[in-house]
Amino acid sequence: MRVGVPKEIKNHEYRVGLTPPSVSELVAAGHDLIIQAGAGSGIDFSDADYVTAGARIVGTAAEVFAEADMIVKVKEPQPVEIAMLEPRHVLFTYLHLAPDPEQAAGLMKSGATCIAYETVTARDGSLPLLKPMSEVAGRMSIQVGAHYLEKEQGGRGVLLGGVPGVAPAKVAILGGGVSGVNAAQMAVGMRADVTIYDISNQRLAELDMFFSSQIKTAYASKAAIAAAVANAHLVIGAVLVPGAAAPKLVTRDMLKTMKRGSVLVDIAIDQGGCFETSHATTHDDPVFTVDGIIHYCVANMPGAVARTSAFALNNATLPFALRLANLGAEAAMQADPHLAAGLNVSGGKIRHRAVAEALGLPF
Ligand code: NAD
Repeated sequence: MRVGVPKEIKNHEYRVGLTPPSVSELVAAGHDLIIQAGAGSGIDFSDADYVTAGARIVGTAAEVFAEADMIVKVKEPQPVEIAMLEPRHVLFTYLHLAPDPEQAAGLMKSGATCIAYETVTARDGSLPLLKPMSEVAGRMSIQVGAHYLEKEQGGRGVLLGGVPGVAPAKVAILGGGVSGVNAAQMAVGMRADVTIYDISNQRLAELDMFFSSQIKTAYASKAAIAAAVANAHLVIGAVLVPGAAAPKLVTRDMLKTMKRGSVLVDIAIDQGGCFETSHATTHDDPVFTVDGIIHYCVANMPGAVARTSAFALNNATLPFALRLANLGAEAAMQADPHLAAGLNVSGGKIRHRAVAEALGLPF
């Protein structure tokens, strides 16, 4: 199959749909790879790297779309890209169509087969192509939290790990799923005093086994969260109720009980955030302060570590991209119901029930 990768054009997006190692794998499987010049330049993949991997470089996105049968991207297609999609194309990328009727209408009009990373499933019901980004965001939350606890950043002036003779900072992690566990691993590595709060007793038991005495676990009752917030130097919001807005676990009143210069990192901001005082921020202007408490609420944290994120995303997407290229989209989805769960749009119709319901469109 002819597989194409255009350069991402969304503001501040430096990731790339296929890294040179992924290109090598697809080329080895007999496919023709067409990469737009400069597609990986934001994260130091040169055109020469892609040529060495076996790809052909073309000058424009228009050439990629004209020559390729399957387009592999990172972010949802922008209007100029949607205009280049045709019924013969397979598009494999993040789409996040539910809150985006304009994009949905454009993709339906294109007639292309659009498979969304975020709805591909795994055997245990989890979402394997979202997982790497939760891992990145979880790990990053501790390094940004540590940064904003510094005095020069407006923070309390506290070192996460303390030093001999001075107690470490207290880190409260709300939600012990993928991002929460990854946050805990980093906080433990920095020798902070870590507690994870969750409402799933099964999850709490797993965390207790996994971390042993390195962390504490607590049931996320309102009282426990109120006490945690009052004592913590750094609070990580990492909850998820699939398909729903994040529950507001930390109220504005609770902020008044916190230590001045403490930091809240709301990873769950892409689902509305789990702190009442959160609103989405960007890497250009990532924090704001309410009642002396620093809030970091960047909705695309992995973008800041685009090189790591591109490799992590490719590790997860490559097996599916290979299957799509080897078998063709229809046969690949017939053979794998988890890949088929990624189908959002084809033949001018929405093909994913939850996406159709969210958009108020027929399924
Ligand atoms: P996950 O499903 O792996 O884990 C969520 C956890 O929250 C589960 O263990 C669940 O039991 C727990 N939970 C649910 N309700 C709770 C409550 N009321 N109190 C305490 N715990 C509760 O989810 P994840 O992959 O870790 O993702 C978490 C959030 O981070 C999602 O909204 C995801 O979209 C978001 N995310 C954001 C970024 C970013 O850049 N900001 C990047 C990746 C993921």
